[in-house]
Amino acid sequence: MDALTGTIFNIQRFSTEDGPGIRTTVFMKGCPLRCQWCSNPESQSPALQVACRDSLCIKCGSCIAACPEGAISAVTEDGGSKLRIDRGLCRSCGSCVQACPAGAMDFYGKVVTPDEVFEEVYRDVGYYISSQGGVTVSGGEAMAQADFVEALFRKCRAAGIHTALDTCGYFNSSALRRMSDCIGLVLYDIKFMNNEKHIRYTGVPNDIILQNARLIPELGMDMVIRIPLIPGINDSVEDLTETARFVAGLEPQPSVNLLPYHNYGENKYKMLNMEYQLTGLKAPDEEHLERCAEFFRQNGLICTY
Ligand code: SF4
Ligand code: SF4
Repeated sequence: MDALTGTIFNIQRFSTEDGPGIRTTVFMKGCPLRCQWCSNPESQSPALQVACRDSLCIKCGSCIAACPEGAISAVTEDGGSKLRIDRGLCRSCGSCVQACPAGAMDFYGKVVTPDEVFEEVYRDVGYYISSQGGVTVSGGEAMAQADFVEALFRKCRAAGIHTALDTCGYFNSSALRRMSDCIGLVLYDIKFMNNEKHIRYTGVPNDIILQNARLIPELGMDMVIRIPLIPGINDSVEDLTETARFVAGLEPQPSVNLLPYHNYGENKYKMLNMEYQLTGLKAPDEEHLERCAEFFRQNGLICTY
């Protein structure tokens, strides 16, 4: 039988934003949503993806010559020469990565076993114990690789390490039921209550997400609701009021954490020949965040940002 593997795109040590204490966050690759503000576009496709870092490229053409599929070409863009990778032709063979003398061509994504990831996260067990931290699995969408995440979480729990699942909520609930005893905390994203807007800005409806949000407290699991706050998109009085009412209706009530929009991932879209649709959108300021948090507090919820 083949060993269980998963595809990850990053392991971030000393994370303090993804649950209590000092944590290691494992980012799984592949997501069913296409949120327009996604700051990790490399997380969306489940496949390994090559990308060129323009700032390192010395334009030697070695990758073009090395590609057996003819997937790489030089194009003129913004007055300069750039590489374009035809994703329909690319077979992720890695020849271009090996041929590049400048380290400009690289893969997003790595196939790993739960044992390999556990070995890496276990290195910081002392920090988890002293800070009451642990391991968080994020994405992409972690539950799109539920078997892998379950195997990793069971190893963590057996070693006394706290586990947290960071999820967009768009998953089959049977896997969650099976895993409920090995997840210490769920960090659960809610974007919109309005289904049409949800489809327009994320590519999928929100019915499954709202059902799973109700299920998690029913299963007795601790949950924090995380709301990416995107100016002009999901921060109207109507949007915030509807979301606050929904969260306040969950039993027991979870706390709310607002995640202010940022555009740090915009450059990665270029590297992947993807279009970033929110160019020019500004991050919300402190005053606006405070006003938004008040909507949730007025509904009796604990809200931070
Ligand atoms: S990974 Fe292989 S197929 Fe894809 S662009 Fe590079 S050389 Fe071509
Ligand atoms: S091989 Fe590397 S440095 Fe040369 S053109 Fe390709 S990406 Fe640029």
